[in-house]
Amino acid sequence: MIRTTRRTFLKGGAAAASVALLAAPALAQAKARIIVLGGGFAGAICARELHRADLSFEVTLVEANPTFTACPFSNAVIAGLRDIAMQRFGYDVIRAEGVTIVQDRATAVDPQERRVSLRGGAGFGYDRLVLAPGIDIRWGALPGYDEAAAASMPHAWKAGDQTLLLRRQLDAMADGGTVVISAPANPFRCPPGPYERASLIAFYLKKTKPRSKLIVLDAKDTFSKQRLFQAAWQQLYPELMEWVPLSNGGKVTSVDAKTRTLVTDFATYKADVANVIPPQRAGSIAEVAGVADPTGWCPIDPVTFESRLRPNIHVIGDAAIAGAMPKSAFAANAQAKVCAFAVTALLRGEAPSPPKLVNTCYSLVAPDYGISIAGVYHPTGGQLADVEGAGGVSPADAPPDFRALEAGYAEAWFRTITAETFA
Ligand SMILES: Cc1cc2nc3c(=O)[nH]c(=O)nc-3n(C[C@H](O)[C@H](O)[C@H](O)COP(=O)(O)OP(=O)(O)OC[C@H]3O[C@@H](n4cnc5c(N)ncnc54)[C@H](O)[C@@H]3O)c2cc1C
Repeated sequence: MIRTTRRTFLKGGAAAASVALLAAPALAQAKARIIVLGGGFAGAICARELHRADLSFEVTLVEANPTFTACPFSNAVIAGLRDIAMQRFGYDVIRAEGVTIVQDRATAVDPQERRVSLRGGAGFGYDRLVLAPGIDIRWGALPGYDEAAAASMPHAWKAGDQTLLLRRQLDAMADGGTVVISAPANPFRCPPGPYERASLIAFYLKKTKPRSKLIVLDAKDTFSKQRLFQAAWQQLYPELMEWVPLSNGGKVTSVDAKTRTLVTDFATYKADVANVIPPQRAGSIAEVAGVADPTGWCPIDPVTFESRLRPNIHVIGDAAIAGAMPKSAFAANAQAKVCAFAVTALLRGEAPSPPKLVNTCYSLVAPDYGISIAGVYHPTGGQLADVEGAGGVSPADAPPDFRALEAGYAEAWFRTITAETFA
């Protein structure tokens, strides 16, 4: 790992310390330049924390979209329980705080020159780069599923137009129709997400189209909070829902968008509405920057989140290989803060201290029925691992009041994290 100290900045190029003392512009050039790429749950809070950590840092946040649309609670939008406007957040407050916001898509990273290039033609040099690009779909990994197919079989795994498309399709479906969801193999964004989605779609169908059927085709035999989900499905949606695990032929091997058909090794499923959650990888700029390994995800140092493949580039959020930590907004937020402190320490020539990170993932099985899983993680053996004995899941035998309370905690968590990140 290359550690760039504060002193190195002052010495950098012609701006030697003695010269810098005499010439104000040279001093200005000596400020540490940090680019944070991606203004989602990881990047936006990381940029803010870096700016707050040291007001002399020049922090630039590069984000492709003018408005961020959040995935957590987007399943409630799909089920007609929430307006998408509640998912949207802007960057005005972060800008007003002093972070430079550049609205453009990054197209190239030159790790040698330490430079990021943007689609609009601009380029920025950096001393440290934090990559937080989230995920991209691995187009073509599931035969038949490409960008054109997503227009009729939405993934809705990035919130926005895809979320609304799936909502409209469910709305237009006749009572008695068949909805099919395909869930991918690990790793992917939000491990409990497909099952929360299935639950809330089942809630919508039970209420408005009770003769319909929901089938979940799964490329796995086990999933997050499985016992809690399955007990709730049995209780709330027994006739309506069917979960087909890998060992019963649940893995979708190809799709045909024209006929809305999903094929497994054992059967062919014709859907009226098909939600294909496909295989994923780190946002494509990670590969361009050379920080993604052959798995498509980014190996990192668990103390600093610095890439194991390229010095001076840190990777946080869904794009990172974070050991036992799931790919969640909660985890992205925790990683962003740890990374901001580590980058600050490194730029000051100090050694970052090993962190402890926390994650909690809430899921709604119905609007007033919440469940959760929590974990605590620490660096050990070069990875982020579970702290033994910490964390846990909601009790299996909790009364309805408890489930309602957890649904409320889920809402409160979303309000808190989005306020902390964007407001
Ligand atoms: C249906 C669903 C439900 C979920 N529910 C929960 C939940 O209840 N709790 C929870 O904790 N997590 C939940 N998640 C997971 C959560 O959304 C992600 O883990 C989180 O968004 C990851 O944050 P991130 O910053 O890594 O990526 P993102 O939040 O996706 O942010 C990445 C940002 O980078 C930008 N970007 C990418 N490439 C470029 C580029 N080249 N140039 C400029 N900008 C770029 C994108 O535009 C985007 O704004 C859910 C996910 C889904 C799909």
